[in-house]
Amino acid sequence: MNRNNLAIRRNVSLKPYNSFRTQATAAFFCHPKTNEELMTILKEFSNEKMLVLGAGCNLFFTKNFDGLIIKPDMIGIKLLNETSEFVDLEVGAGEDWDRFVEFCVEKGYSGIENLSLIPGKVGAAPVQNIGAYGTEAKDTIVKVNAIDINTGNFISFSNKECAFGYRDSIFKYNRQYIITSVVFRLNKNFRYTQKYADLNHEMNNIRHPSLRQVREAIIRIRSHKLPDINELPNAGSFFKNPILTQREKEELLVKLPEAPFYPSGNEAYKTSAAYLIEKAGYKGLRKGAVGIYEHHALIIVNYGTENGRDIVNFMHEVQQAVEEKFAIRLLPEVQIY
Ligand SMILES: Cc1cc2nc3c(=O)[nH]c(=O)nc-3n(C[C@H](O)[C@H](O)[C@H](O)COP(=O)(O)OP(=O)(O)OC[C@H]3O[C@@H](n4cnc5c(N)ncnc54)[C@H](O)[C@@H]3O)c2cc1C
Repeated sequence: MNRNNLAIRRNVSLKPYNSFRTQATAAFFCHPKTNEELMTILKEFSNEKMLVLGAGCNLFFTKNFDGLIIKPDMIGIKLLNETSEFVDLEVGAGEDWDRFVEFCVEKGYSGIENLSLIPGKVGAAPVQNIGAYGTEAKDTIVKVNAIDINTGNFISFSNKECAFGYRDSIFKYNRQYIITSVVFRLNKNFRYTQKYADLNHEMNNIRHPSLRQVREAIIRIRSHKLPDINELPNAGSFFKNPILTQREKEELLVKLPEAPFYPSGNEAYKTSAAYLIEKAGYKGLRKGAVGIYEHHALIIVNYGTENGRDIVNFMHEVQQAVEEKFAIRLLPEVQIY
């Protein structure tokens, strides 16, 4: 098979492929449906610059991409193991994340229900170790299967080898791996545990919430709190919550005595980026076609620009305002290309 026989498109607009809806063009674009197809493409385009794309909900473009965009489209949910306590499921990278959560809830498999309604593909879940309401993807991931772009070989990563952290994993920095499937271990015996205040509040009147009730509560909370990407393009939480040392924590408390803190490992404390942005006066503030969402200070929304630079400029302004006021540099969680 050569280049001409492969399903490769040229000069493809990336606007439909990122949830911020910024405009850029990819020189080449493909969505392989099988590992074999992906391997053939990798061989044929070995000299090309490459970028892997899921549903584009955690990134946006500021310029054209002069290379090959690969959007893995491998789908399928395969049962690998089953005991009276758990199931191991291997899920194709191209499966929609929330459809997979719904599948698990329907079957009575617990572990990822708190991650309901996070937009994106299964293949992207390990990349930034998606998390919400006290749960992270890493809590259920057993193995990540990938193809190494440099060698063309298959490679499997155990949970430990993924080096998961807060919105972090080795896949975030080692761009040579294309995740083809993820193996999850899910529990067959569900018991609600109180992990997160908002969710506990929703569950207040229910003595023993079912898996379905938890999923529905999460969907209610998220739908109320987060902007719909089809109405107000965005990429979810724009900044990471800063992790501070004991000393930085004390310095912040002098300026903001009510700042929230959560223990985050040894002598480290996570504070709320949303709180800092709000206290810097940016919640609901709009500059031209870009602004901070009025109901959630961590979300930058696009009111109508196609130019990713407008979002970057606004990001810099927010970073500067927070740094000048509180001596803390906010770092983007969203990837900028
Ligand atoms: C409204 C909204 C709410 C959100 N809420 C949350 C939330 O609660 N918690 C949370 O953690 N995130 C949240 N996000 C962010 C986003 O949904 C997640 O990061 C999600 O995993 C992105 O999936 P994606 O398929 O769109 O990945 P993309 O944005 O397409 O890609 C993200 C990164 O992963 C890489 N990548 C994608 N697929 C692969 C693959 N198969 N192999 C290797 N690398 C790959 C890309 O190169 C890129 O670097 C939210 C986003 C939005 C828009």
